[in-house]
Order: sequence, then C-alpha cells, then structure tokens
Amino acid sequence: MTEGMGSSAGEGPRATLARGNPRGVTVLSVDGLEARHGLLPAVRGVSLVLGEGEKLALVGANGAGKTTLLRTLAGAHRAAAGTVRFDGVDVTALPAHRRVGLGIVLVPEGRRLFPDMTVVENLLVAGRHRRPGPWTVDTVLDAFPLLRPLRHRRAATLSGGEQQATAIGRALMTNPRLVLLDEVSLGLAPLAVDTVYESLARLIASGTTAIIVEQDLSRAMRIADRVVCMLEGAIVLEGSAAELTRERVTAAYFGLAGDQVRSGTP
Ligand code: ATP
Repeated sequence: MTEGMGSSAGEGPRATLARGNPRGVTVLSVDGLEARHGLLPAVRGVSLVLGEGEKLALVGANGAGKTTLLRTLAGAHRAAAGTVRFDGVDVTALPAHRRVGLGIVLVPEGRRLFPDMTVVENLLVAGRHRRPGPWTVDTVLDAFPLLRPLRHRRAATLSGGEQQATAIGRALMTNPRLVLLDEVSLGLAPLAVDTVYESLARLIASGTTAIIVEQDLSRAMRIADRVVCMLEGAIVLEGSAAELTRERVTAAYFGLAGDQVRSGTP
C-alpha cells in the first residue's frame, strides 16, 4: 500500500509522492478533486490518501482553499470533478448527513453551536447521527474536563475556548473515523488555544484519523504526522512533519520557489 498526494496546479508538474503507509489501512482516498464557488476554482486537482490514525495538518494562506476542501470532503460543498473514497466506498455524491453516518465529521470554522442550548444538549444533538463507539456525553466530558462543570450552561454564555471544546466534543459524539477540524484556534485568546489543543491531544491519543486546518505553523507541525500546504486551490507541498522544515513550508505557503517545492526536492 502506498500513500501520496499531489495537485495539478495549472500547467505545473503533478507531484504525487509515494511512501509506505505505516498504518496499513487507507481511510480516505481523494483523487483529482475540484470544487468551485460559481466560476471560481477553489480546489484544483487535489489528490491525497490518509491512513488510519494519521493526523494531517492542512496549511496555506487565506483563500488557499482549505475550508472549501474540508467542506467538500464532508459533503457540505459539491465536488465539480474527481472522487472522494472513504473506507473504499465512493462517497463523492453522498450528502453530508450520510457521510456523518459513515464516520466523516466536520468541526466548522466558527463553532456553530446552538446558543440557547446547554453544553450537554449541544452534545446530544450530534448524537442523533451517532455510530456505535466509545464516545458518549460522559466520555466527552472526561476528555474535556473543562466542560464538566459547565455542562448545564447555555452555549452562548461560554468563552470562545469553551465553545470550541464543545464543538469538538459534539463532533466526537458521532463516533467518527475521520475528523475534519477547521481552524479550531481562530479568534481565541492564547490561553484558550492552549486549552483547546490540550483537548485535541486527547483526540489524537484516541487514534482518530484527522485533518486539521491550522494557521499556526509551529502548532500544525507539532500536532501532525504529515503536513500539506495549499496554494491557490492546489497542493504545493506535502511531507512528514518530522522531515519538513518550517522554512520549506513557509516558502510553499507564500508560493516561493514553487517548482522546487512541487517537485519534492529538498
Ligand atoms: P481562509 O483561511 O481565509 O478561510 P481558505 O484557505 O480556507 O481561506 P477558502 O475559504 O476555501 O480558503 O476559499 C478559497 C477561495 O474561494 C477564495 O478565493 C475565496 O475567496 C473563495 N470563496 C470561499 N467561500 C466563498 C463563497 N461562499 N463564495 C464565493 N467565493 C468563496
């Protein structure tokens, strides 16, 4: 089994890097994915493979297409071309709720909780689509200890960090096999970001496969096994977090030395 990813950025070379999949089982396989906003191509020829338990950090400048890619994987945005396979099943045409039933869940940018409902009620709402598995209200509150004393508070009264923890907990309630996290630290105070990342560490320890969109490169590279950088809708760099340097990721982020980065040469 190999894993790799690439992109066809305009007439640029298609870079598909192959390496052994240490986990063996492929959870997500994306091939030639395209997504648009009207006529604007927001995701261009994205291909990637994600092994079970892998954590992939997705980075890139504002407007690079990260949110659109996550939404397209989750079924919240229509694919214009290409395929998304999950556990070997072609889910490209499936609506979001069917994908949740299969185990794909999106934690969207901006949390989107029900403000008048309590923490527990917000968790239970997600539970309507739950698959069998270890995550229940109790195990989520164990994993996010900051939420236990707040569990009967209305979501609207929580701080940004507490709301974000609730949003991640809500996603876990579906017992996902793949969690798509969109900018979990956006707009949070530094202390709240630390708290959210402590909770994420528990998710990671649980072995859930995840794609994490994160603007903070250092955090992204610390938390992930693999880093993918997008530029103008296409993947321009991918590599293991341990091997990539911050400088290379930054260069890809800003579209510098594009050919060198795309070809995968150091
Ligand atoms: P950010 O970090 O700012 O969220 P992003 O990498 O997530 O950026 P997207 O939000 O996916 O990027 O945007 C990709 C492209 O699609 C951008 O050019 C953006 O302006 C455009 N776009 C995003 N949402 C819409 C929309 N609802 N309607 C029209 N264009 C959109």
